[in-house]
Amino acid sequence: MSPHLDSEGIWREVLRRPATAKPRPALFLDRDGTINVEIGYLHEPAKAVLVPGAAAAIAAANRADWLVVVITNQGGVGRGYYGWEAFRDTQRRIEAMLADDAGAKVDMVLACPFHPEAPEPALRHKDHYARKPHPGMLFKAAADLPIDLARSIVAGDRASDLMAGRAAGCEQGVLVDSGFQAAERKAAEALAREGYRVRVAPDLSALTPGFGAAK
Ligand SMILES: [Mg+2]
Repeated sequence: MSPHLDSEGIWREVLRRPATAKPRPALFLDRDGTINVEIGYLHEPAKAVLVPGAAAAIAAANRADWLVVVITNQGGVGRGYYGWEAFRDTQRRIEAMLADDAGAKVDMVLACPFHPEAPEPALRHKDHYARKPHPGMLFKAAADLPIDLARSIVAGDRASDLMAGRAAGCEQGVLVDSGFQAAERKAAEALAREGYRVRVAPDLSALTPGFGAAK
């Protein structure tokens, strides 16, 4: 078993720790379809391709002293399509590409393997609190790093990413909309009608200018 799994079986890995414990906002990022191009259960490092603008936005968040936290549902682990080693190798490849592209750095990675159709009973869960749209991964991140959830942003390519951020008390959600996911856009617009602060943008580059003023 991986040393990065916590007592509940969630991948929970701090890569960098800020120098001080002063609370600061986090940019919570979905991974597949947000940082890297969605190909469906990505688990081979060589198949990872960055979404344009992702590395620059993460680098801007780094410079503004925001924490960058990847929160990814990895139902493929639960379903037995691949294991944690493949997840880790793919994740390390994505981090290397982000660093090469713009010097961008991820501070923490969380991954939830639970899935309703997992063949292995230990990973089978109807509705795990850490699986987005639920906020468990964000709360775990805030327990490990000095994160001000109320000033944090969540970004992802599905409305469930934004729902997790809303449930954790993040001040806004950004739906990165490649144009292929009309249903996700509709669901995100419904969240906005319920009063949640939602932005829709083609990719993460829409966030880059905002970090210039952030402190
Ligand atoms: Mg996604």
